[in-house]
Amino acid sequence: MKDLLLAGIQPGCTQRTEITVKDVTFGGKEVVLIGGPCAVESYEQVKKAAQVVKRAGGKVLRGGIFKPRSSPYSFQGLGEEGLEYLVRAAKENDLLTVTEALDDESLELIKDKVDIIQIGARNMQNFQLLKRAGKLGNPIILKRGLAATIEEWLLAAEYILAEGNSQVILCERGIRTFETSTRNTLDLSAVGVVKALSHLPIIVDPSHAAGKRHLVPALAKAAIVAGADGLLVEMHPDPDNAQSDGAQSLTSEQFEELGRELREVTKISGRTFSLPGRLTNLQSMREKIDEIDQDIIEFLAERMKVVKQIADEKSLDKIRDVNREREVIQKLVSVAENLECPPELIREIYLRIFDYGVEFQFETKRMKEAKLSVGSY
Ligand code: PEP
Ligand code: MN
Repeated sequence: MKDLLLAGIQPGCTQRTEITVKDVTFGGKEVVLIGGPCAVESYEQVKKAAQVVKRAGGKVLRGGIFKPRSSPYSFQGLGEEGLEYLVRAAKENDLLTVTEALDDESLELIKDKVDIIQIGARNMQNFQLLKRAGKLGNPIILKRGLAATIEEWLLAAEYILAEGNSQVILCERGIRTFETSTRNTLDLSAVGVVKALSHLPIIVDPSHAAGKRHLVPALAKAAIVAGADGLLVEMHPDPDNAQSDGAQSLTSEQFEELGRELREVTKISGRTFSLPGRLTNLQSMREKIDEIDQDIIEFLAERMKVVKQIADEKSLDKIRDVNREREVIQKLVSVAENLECPPELIREIYLRIFDYGVEFQFETKRMKEAKLSVGSY
């Protein structure tokens, strides 16, 4: 292997570089779990994912906002809007963030917003992008190209290092072989090969290699035994309806189970992995209640927005529609009964919500009219 001045190590040298991003260290004793959906689809989706990642012991939330899809007709990502959702969900759950930059423009957009920038397999030899990432100095996850040798991959890392950015984390994600039963073939030997040649941390993404969720947990654990410094695993709160890579995304339950298993697997491989402090039953139930309350408020806020829009459509004398209120309450009470939720509670809450909505609409209308009459003087 030639010309690895910065990414390479001398034969026999066991030097390791630890890359610390905020309070998370790659390449140390502790294994780092990164999880999240392939693509950010909505705030709700990435929020649920973040909560699961946190509970499973994950430290970094992933989520693509620009998706390099094989077909131009597939979902291409939410862009800037998705970035906001990712950052917000991670912050609320005390997680770091990683998302992929496809080109200069996306690099520019994400560079000050996320903690780690991913350069994907398809861009591993985009030398212009590598140089830019090198100049920026942000921590980078550099995925191995689908058909790249380890040498080519390390030379791609060298491009980033040569520009003065030493924070490169390598990620093995499977390579294309003659085998068609999996999406790609996970090259776990690459972990050992890289560790013998380079001081850089290396993590493994079993999801894009396997392409099928049932294969992912075993490959993830095998990667840790093989010496990987971390894992990048796709998960989705509703993988069967995911916009991208659903088939390989773990369910929330599977992801949490993987977190528990990693604790055991790291013990036998001389590494560590800690789950968030064990919560008492009461604490964890309270956390659940907090999440539900947050959801209720978000839905109510959404409802208020619509109530406001309706005000514009109604004349002042049509604001209160007692018949409609009665119908809606009847319907909601029967829904509540089916869900074993006390109907009298629903009736009371909705009467209050209607009163507030009507009052709010009157107020909106009055203000509008006051403005109009001021304007006509
Ligand atoms: C991804 O992480 O969602 C992704 C597109 O990965 P890769 O570049 O490895 O295909
Ligand atoms: Mn993906």
